[in-house]
Amino acid sequence: MKYFSINELTKTSTGISNIPNAEQIANLTYLVENLLDKAREKLAMPITVTSGYRSEEVNRIVGGVATSQHTKGEAVDLVCGDNAKLFNILKTMNFDQLIWEKGNSVQPAWVHVSIKRNGINRKQVIRL
Ligand SMILES: [Zn+2]
Repeated sequence: MKYFSINELTKTSTGISNIPNAEQIANLTYLVENLLDKAREKLAMPITVTSGYRSEEVNRIVGGVATSQHTKGEAVDLVCGDNAKLFNILKTMNFDQLIWEKGNSVQPAWVHVSIKRNGINRKQVIRL
């Protein structure tokens, strides 16, 4: 964990308790070490995590799907100075799901990426 902290991966504006358990922290750590830190080095610019771990209650309030990988600590939403570049860097790495979220054909509004510590990573790319 070089560029990211568990604290910034668990913050929420909902005011609701959002504390990951040991399993979820292990998943978040895996995600940072295998994806985020590496992407940050290649991108060479700061990345902001707009949503990381979500407790089930937080996830429900923000309108996330019930099966969201955010509730497992396996997914993050990211923005930076060039979201398309970040998307393309992540695309070359090992991940479970990578989503070009909204925006337009040039830039996504944000990037969703997930990785599984246990199980098969599907390398599924979705452009919404
Ligand atoms: Zn997401």
